Amino acid sequence: MISNTKKGYFTLEAAIFLPIFIIGILTIGYFMKIYSTAENVTFSMIDETSHLAAQACGRKSAVSFPEKVKARLREENNSMEWIKTVNFRYLYSDSRKDGLIIFGCRYRIALSLPVKLTDSVELESRLKCRGFIGTKTDGTAMPFSDMEKNGDSSIVWVFPMWGEKFHKESCRFVTANAVQKVLTPRLKREYKPCELCRPEDVPIGSYVYCFLRAGNVYHRQGCHTVEKYTIEMEKEDALSKGYRPCKTCGGG
Ligand SMILES: [Zn+2]
Ligand SMILES: [Zn+2]
Repeated sequence: MISNTKKGYFTLEAAIFLPIFIIGILTIGYFMKIYSTAENVTFSMIDETSHLAAQACGRKSAVSFPEKVKARLREENNSMEWIKTVNFRYLYSDSRKDGLIIFGCRYRIALSLPVKLTDSVELESRLKCRGFIGTKTDGTAMPFSDMEKNGDSSIVWVFPMWGEKFHKESCRFVTANAVQKVLTPRLKREYKPCELCRPEDVPIGSYVYCFLRAGNVYHRQGCHTVEKYTIEMEKEDALSKGYRPCKTCGGG
């Protein structure tokens, strides 16, 4: 009689606590899913932005950047219901610093909780950093008189990520390497897409890379045939960014 009551008690106990235990385990599982997704998102945002910041010196606009981040996050996190990038600003200045990059990602993670409290959570991550643009942040703004000064606006060529020298267009260092260009419908007509990196789907307005002296082909960023590339800039701009004239061609 006593032992029967005990058995009944254990059964009752199990009936009450087992579901709670299972729900507890599942809930921990869902928290882990939310945390790991949020951490993934933060890591990918930092990774993409650090590449962008490193190229900021030779890159005047980054219109395709939010789309690129979005595509990566979507691909890496399949539990995401939707994602949007918000407030993207590239190389802007506030009162103390220039070359700032800022953006945020808003996203929703789908959940199928055993207890229907909610079926998704919405999160937002924001990131702000400074692009590598070659200027120091001493806090003093450029005076208006400097903007009116007539500098040497002749065009020279620099390797934004490799060299410290500026060159003439005809210099062999320039002609042997690719030139960074903005993809326009006209460029698309005049140049053929590279057969290795297949840049057909690169959106208009993005940077592509062309070898002007050899074969009218354009490449996407990261194509292994484009190891180094040049960009053009005004001579005074190059000097102020710390570039010095090339010894071979004498600069510009
Ligand atoms: Zn040179
Ligand atoms: Zn290519």
